[in-house]
Amino acid sequence: MALMGQMMTMPLLISSLIQHAARHSGDTEIVSKRVEGDLHRYTWADAELRSRKLAQALARLGLQPGDRVATLAWNGYRHLEIYYGSSGSQLVCHTINPRLFPEQIAWIANDAQDAALCFDLSFLPLIEKLAPQMRSVRHFVLMTDRAHMPAQSSIPGLLCYDELVEAEDGHYTWPVFDENCASSICYTSGTTGNPKGAVYSHRSSVLHAYASAMPDAMDCSRRDVILPVVPMFHVNAWGLPYSCAAVGAKLVFPGPHLDGKSLYELFEAEQVSFSAGVPTVWLGLLNYVRGQGLKFSSFKRTVIGGSACPPAMLKTLMDDYGVEVIHAWGMTELSPLGTLSKLSAKQLQLPVEEQRRLLEKQGKAIYGIDMAIVDDQGQALPWDGRSAGNLVVRGPWVIAGYFGAERSPLIAVRGEDGRDAGLWFPTGDVATIDADGFMQITDRSKDVIKSGGEWISSIDLENIAMAHPSVHEAAVIAVPHPRWDERPLLVVVCKPGCQLGREEMLAFYEGRIAKWQIPDDVVFVPEIPHTATGKMLKLKLREQFKDHRLPAG
Ligand code: ADP
Repeated sequence: MALMGQMMTMPLLISSLIQHAARHSGDTEIVSKRVEGDLHRYTWADAELRSRKLAQALARLGLQPGDRVATLAWNGYRHLEIYYGSSGSQLVCHTINPRLFPEQIAWIANDAQDAALCFDLSFLPLIEKLAPQMRSVRHFVLMTDRAHMPAQSSIPGLLCYDELVEAEDGHYTWPVFDENCASSICYTSGTTGNPKGAVYSHRSSVLHAYASAMPDAMDCSRRDVILPVVPMFHVNAWGLPYSCAAVGAKLVFPGPHLDGKSLYELFEAEQVSFSAGVPTVWLGLLNYVRGQGLKFSSFKRTVIGGSACPPAMLKTLMDDYGVEVIHAWGMTELSPLGTLSKLSAKQLQLPVEEQRRLLEKQGKAIYGIDMAIVDDQGQALPWDGRSAGNLVVRGPWVIAGYFGAERSPLIAVRGEDGRDAGLWFPTGDVATIDADGFMQITDRSKDVIKSGGEWISSIDLENIAMAHPSVHEAAVIAVPHPRWDERPLLVVVCKPGCQLGREEMLAFYEGRIAKWQIPDDVVFVPEIPHTATGKMLKLKLREQFKDHRLPAG
């Protein structure tokens, strides 16, 4: 009979992270640029106390375990308190991406059945418009103080966040419950159709926090000053609010101020040592620093991911500014970290050019993530750096299903030996893996466009074009773009006898989709290539238009 371990059973709960930070790094600062325009500072101890008060306030509003508390907010301390105050009290924190089209925001809030919505001052006009459509939301909370509350608002019973928190005494003990309870939800529109919710658990989030702080991952420590540029509505800012609490790092939140100048000034003023974000943000920062002839005095490391890190950016940051670039790959469905590119002692002996080629790849799986590349039948392919296949993953912080969906996204995989290797999550990315385990994304099988780290659904754009009376068929493909990585190009076949111009076609998108999602250009073609089963051959179109020059602007 198996001998059982005789260790304490303590559930892995998110509240334990902030309790640890408050107890052991209580005087370490959290600095936030506020939407209100000023700089706010307090400590992990203050954050924990206010999170407890928030938990009390949410209970007083009548929220029950499992209820969803949505946020529409930039990176800041109040958002951090909602992360901990809601999840810690067995509510579920649902971060909504404010860059989505308003109707999509309402759709997501309804799908998640959010019971409360907390939002930054900058989103007040938006929520005034959307509130009547958000059918499940019982409490609207404006994340500001009394002085910044509007004199009147069309939102029924609009609450003031600071007032709610300050009314409580903090005599609250974080509850202990099953670590498999949901802690947060993040929607992704990374695949076709409506956005889908990834529901993280306390267990998955805490394990991810451990793994992501390790030296060959994000390498976070209490000596670091960490500024997450990646938004807190984007896969929990890649888990940094959790891993920073676990190690007791100083946190710096930029609020909505993500332009090069604002970021640089905050980096310098707060002596930021580590940051993380998508390539587009670093382009802005580098342009500013280069243009002004500046240097960084404290910035040492950055994790770049969400889209492929351009080799030129890696080189500039490393060679001109002495900033170590860690290229990472992940996705919402992975909480998000999957792989990071860090060299072993053996690889550090290689000539610099060879080291760079490895660093440009998406890197090695961290402990906790199993990855494989498979053919269309699920058969694993060799790790030879040449065979490209569908990238599949599994692990304790990989989703097993989407919120409310009956069908499992998982697929059966056979190992290289041909044996059943169980169920894995198909990422929709196509990759090679070399003999040292360095994974490199070579293509994407999912039909989407990623612009500045944000998804644009090609299906949505095609459906809008097809609604135009002169359009016979429409396809949208991604074309490379120096600033945004990818931008949408619309390929149109007109109905016989119809005349349709580029401007008229693009104007048709106005008001039907977020402005930044409107295609950059339109090409008119006599026909779109199809497969035998009638599906559009996007691969062929992408090949045909890969050198298409988008108009500037
Ligand atoms: P996030 O952008 O936070 O990583 P998403 O779920 O929005 O998470 O997007 C995940 C997808 O983004 C991946 O499946 C992949 O297509 C793309 N992606 C993420 N990181 C990289 C990278 N380093 N290189 C290339 N593509 C990437």
